[in-house]
Amino acid sequence: MRPEILNSLFAPVTNLAGIGPKLAVALTRLLKGGDGTEAAKVGDLLFHLPSGLIDRRNQPTITGAAEGALATIKVRVDRHQPPPRGNRRIPYRVYVHDETGELGLTFFRGQSSWLEKQLPVGETRYVSGRVEWYNGRPTMVHPDHIVTEENFADMPLVEPVYPLTAGLSLKVAQKCAAAALSALPELPEWIDASLLERHHWPRLSEALNRIHRPRDILDISADAISWKRLAYDELLAGQLALALVRRRMKKGAGKPWVGTGEKQQSIIDKLPFELTQAQKRSVQEIHADMAQPQRMLRMLQGDVGSGKTAVALLACAAAVEAGGQAAIMAPTEILARQHYATIAPLAKSVGMKVAVLTGREKGAARKEIYAELADGSIDILLGTHALFQADVVFHNLALGVVDEQHRFGVHQRLALASKGGFADILVMTATPIPRTLVLTFFGDMDVSKLDEKPASRLPIQTNAIALDRLDQLVSRVQDAVSRGEKIYWICPLVEESDELPVTAAEVRYKALEQVLGQNVGMVHGRMKPAEKDAAMLDFKEGKTRVLVATTVIEVGVDVPDATIMVIEHAERFGLAQLHQLRGRVGRGDKPSTCLLLYKAPLGEVAEARLRIMRETEDGFRIAEEDLKLRGEGEILGTRQSGTPGFQIARMEHHAQLLEIARDDARLILSQDEELTSPRGEALRILLYLFSKDEAVRLLRAG
Ligand code: ADP
Ligand code: MG
Repeated sequence: MRPEILNSLFAPVTNLAGIGPKLAVALTRLLKGGDGTEAAKVGDLLFHLPSGLIDRRNQPTITGAAEGALATIKVRVDRHQPPPRGNRRIPYRVYVHDETGELGLTFFRGQSSWLEKQLPVGETRYVSGRVEWYNGRPTMVHPDHIVTEENFADMPLVEPVYPLTAGLSLKVAQKCAAAALSALPELPEWIDASLLERHHWPRLSEALNRIHRPRDILDISADAISWKRLAYDELLAGQLALALVRRRMKKGAGKPWVGTGEKQQSIIDKLPFELTQAQKRSVQEIHADMAQPQRMLRMLQGDVGSGKTAVALLACAAAVEAGGQAAIMAPTEILARQHYATIAPLAKSVGMKVAVLTGREKGAARKEIYAELADGSIDILLGTHALFQADVVFHNLALGVVDEQHRFGVHQRLALASKGGFADILVMTATPIPRTLVLTFFGDMDVSKLDEKPASRLPIQTNAIALDRLDQLVSRVQDAVSRGEKIYWICPLVEESDELPVTAAEVRYKALEQVLGQNVGMVHGRMKPAEKDAAMLDFKEGKTRVLVATTVIEVGVDVPDATIMVIEHAERFGLAQLHQLRGRVGRGDKPSTCLLLYKAPLGEVAEARLRIMRETEDGFRIAEEDLKLRGEGEILGTRQSGTPGFQIARMEHHAQLLEIARDDARLILSQDEELTSPRGEALRILLYLFSKDEAVRLLRAG
């Protein structure tokens, strides 16, 4: 149960004075991504922090005001000049002056009654706004503020600016933030006193007040003490939640799973290649973990093409040998089916039954899978999110493998673990993740690394080509096709605006078909699953030679004899994505090429990305460079999945705080296992504040 002290923050925004249902919709769209499942709450407003400032401290004279600059000027009102009757297109003007000259205040569709009240002739007022010179005279169009001398002291000379959305003006956003601040209760302190002191951090309420009522740009910088305190709160909540998840997964609930090695050995014998040292080492590490009575929580990190699937299959075989079942969860349907295609034949040959479960299995077929899972006749289940569903019940789940882990959240991992009372968890990620980010998103996991590519791999030649040389490229592709090579051609997803909504892939497909005829296939996200499968299969089997695709093939697709990767509008892709895409080629024994087709002129960042791609194939270096070039959220693909990693913390500024938070979280749980001390109670409030309710439920007295 959420502590009552937080009720005001978890109330809908409409609880605040001045926020009606219409504004609430705009706020929900802005603060909750707006799919409508969750309404914006008062607390969301508090953590919607300013992105900048309006600085009205500049108080020049009228003639001294710089063109276009914000100015706050003390003036005397001279005369009103309403527009001629019936002509609303001419603005209402009010002329004012100071000792240096005259200023025209301009109001389009100005209301005379209101203006006469605001600006009575002969009185002194402060006006604040942008000074523009129009026909050689200074004017101010719609001053942002008009105040009397008495009220001047209350006028904010520095105003926070918030990210906005349709239906939400800056003034309204400011009012919302102020209203939310007034609803903030005084919460008990959860940060350790000595840490607060060491960093000079203010209390939560003070920090929020300072940021929403900044006095200087420094107050809203990520390095300000107020911001850091909030970032720490967010990081601590995250680390504490992860520590609780990890503890739950490890604690007691494990069981030693010791395989005989028999099935594994015959799989190894059947593989058309020799395992790399890194694969062998990882398999051993996994076995050692599985044999422990605690739960395994291990991450298998390996760049694209490093051979994670084989490791996963061997781990699954060990689980089956030990008398359990295994599940592999993939982020996309295509990938789940591809795993099925590669794994099932090998698995079957050693007597393991494999099934696949995605959203597509329906009715009787689905029921049959459920039944065979429950009675234990299915040994390995492959699938998508569908594996989480409540009616999926295993007979005896020993191992859950989560492929491309970064696409799934902590609670999904929990859901999978809960499918088997004793299941070990192996998460695999192809995106090489810098250490700080591993910590952030996954907590302290054990890590196995595939830091070695299969020896047979040849380097991939990467070139950048301007789009105006498309013709040359097409004839090059034609040559390659006549040599029997396979080519991926990736197009970004854009709607060609004025026309019917067609994807760029469809346009390219038609163009290439003109030249290459039957050799071209296509796969994109809007196709029906069966059509996608057929297109992938045709390409795999060589019925088509060129596969035009959107990024649906980004993750994990394996067609070993594809040798050319064309990425159209490469400048629109992020580094991590480019690297993932390039990793689709260079998997076989023939030399491969990656052609980055770009539209000139390139922006600075895009140019840097393409340069890095040409310089290196090292996934770790690319990930680090990506982190430098972009926000950390995007590396993990959070932007695509729409779950923002952080609201407040910024890795460029707060990586160090993350380490402190992790140590702090560990220390806290070692001293106060169930968070029952006074500080523990306060920490529970913190967890709720950052919506870590799932983690609180893991506490005994939760
Ligand atoms: P990823 O780590 O990106 O998931 P995959 O598991 O899909 O990589 O493997 C990529 C390709 O490399 C597959 O075609 C696979 O059969 C092959 N492969 C895996 N391990 C080896 C190896 N030790 N030697 C040669 N090829 C390998
Ligand atoms: Mg893979």
